[in-house]
Amino acid sequence: MLGAGAALLAALALPAGAAHPQDKDWGKREKLDPNGTTAKAEAVVCPVCDHKCERGVMANVQEHELDTDFKVLRASFNVYPYVLTTCPKCSYSTYSAQFHKSLKEEQRKNVMEALKDTKRAFRDSWAVPLSFSLDCAAITHRTLKSGEGTLSEIYLLGSYLAREAGEAEAEREMQRNAASNLIVAIEKDESYQRPKLRYLAGEIYRRLGQHKDALDWLGRARQDADEELQKLIARQEMLTRDEIEKKKPKK
Ligand SMILES: [Zn+2]
Repeated sequence: MLGAGAALLAALALPAGAAHPQDKDWGKREKLDPNGTTAKAEAVVCPVCDHKCERGVMANVQEHELDTDFKVLRASFNVYPYVLTTCPKCSYSTYSAQFHKSLKEEQRKNVMEALKDTKRAFRDSWAVPLSFSLDCAAITHRTLKSGEGTLSEIYLLGSYLAREAGEAEAEREMQRNAASNLIVAIEKDESYQRPKLRYLAGEIYRRLGQHKDALDWLGRARQDADEELQKLIARQEMLTRDEIEKKKPKK
């Protein structure tokens, strides 16, 4: 349903956006551009506090260009505000495609308690700033013990957002958290044992200037990588070696 937009989300093991096949009004959506990308408001109920609110949903995003850490550089629509849904009342925040899933009574209580100091009373889910959603999603998923893979995705999204805002130090902090969680997920979670994610760990380390770790993980990504990924790995390995050379003291 997300068309090419699903590429990034699939690469990161993120559930695809907020396109709901069960959405009966999907056919009435508003058209946004000639590519057929669409967005509209949808009513949702928070599984933690039962608050009813509206959020934006999108479909058929065409990605034209991805950065080497899979951040979307050019697309027919800005995908990032739609990846997460946040309850404007209790701040429960998770992937849009998972937001409707019910939680056990104890999980609801724990999440409500963990988020109680974040409440900011937004009008609707679409009015919640993405940076706030990301903070709340990290708290939500730490509380729910969702695992390092999920946390790494949230921190990676945070690093994209910080880069867009030109906040270099915040970006590095997010990247450090993304990388440390990602490598734990790769070690222990089968669904994270893909060459693309090993490559991603290497690329994040390269961006952090941790060149030894970068080369280590880029090397590990070679195994089972398809032709396109092999090319990308080779390019980023070369870039890493250039950066190591540049860092050496001049004689
Ligand atoms: Zn809520």
